[in-house]
Amino acid sequence: MFMFMVIITYLFSSIQIKDLKINEEEIRLEQETLKIINAPKYKIINRNLVIPVDQTNNNKVLLLTIDDGPSKRTKEIMEILKNHKAGAIFFINGMHEENNIGVIEEIYKKGFTVGNHTWNHINMNKENDIKVVENEILKNGELIENLTWAPTRFFRAPYGESNSNIRKFIKDNGMIFMDWSGATKDWDKSTIEKDIFINNALVDLHPGSIILIHEHPWSVANLDGLLTTLDEKGYTYIDPKDIIE
Ligand SMILES: [Zn+2]
Repeated sequence: MFMFMVIITYLFSSIQIKDLKINEEEIRLEQETLKIINAPKYKIINRNLVIPVDQTNNNKVLLLTIDDGPSKRTKEIMEILKNHKAGAIFFINGMHEENNIGVIEEIYKKGFTVGNHTWNHINMNKENDIKVVENEILKNGELIENLTWAPTRFFRAPYGESNSNIRKFIKDNGMIFMDWSGATKDWDKSTIEKDIFINNALVDLHPGSIILIHEHPWSVANLDGLLTTLDEKGYTYIDPKDIIE
């Protein structure tokens, strides 16, 4: 009799769990649909902070940016980002395209955003000829437009080096100029150590931070650890396509 009761209880509860699962799935699908319609929109202020246009939205969000590709590691980076449901802007240099054919298209096709980081990764403040600077930006923009069928909306200056003339040129060409507010500092070899890489990103971390990461081998090796830490802290990652200004 006891066994009979156990079996009946088990059967009853498993039916309930199954029903619950169906409902959860329905709710999830509905939420996905709602998200598409009502995806919160964001804007960039001070070139280094992302804020929701509608302040009532949850703003514990981060924007991830991956610089200096395309590279042999871009695809692996995209897989890690996907595992964490993270959007990102890949700020690319056109000079790397010939050794990584097809990667820029892949970034776009996988739903990520391609940003302009000049063709040759030049320090624009050290270049006296403004025509050279403009060509660096426009040539890179043309490549992105040809490969992704859309003009790029985001620009980042190599080394963070720019001036007001350059920023005006970027704006006049319909792009949003972007610096960063948090960095893994992965240009420093000490960040081969996972804890140092992660802790660098956590210094000054706040909702709306724009995080700078590169495509170095050690950055890729430590990226999953960083995103796991950020997930645990309750952050989500915005899709750059939701940035409207
Ligand atoms: Zn760079």
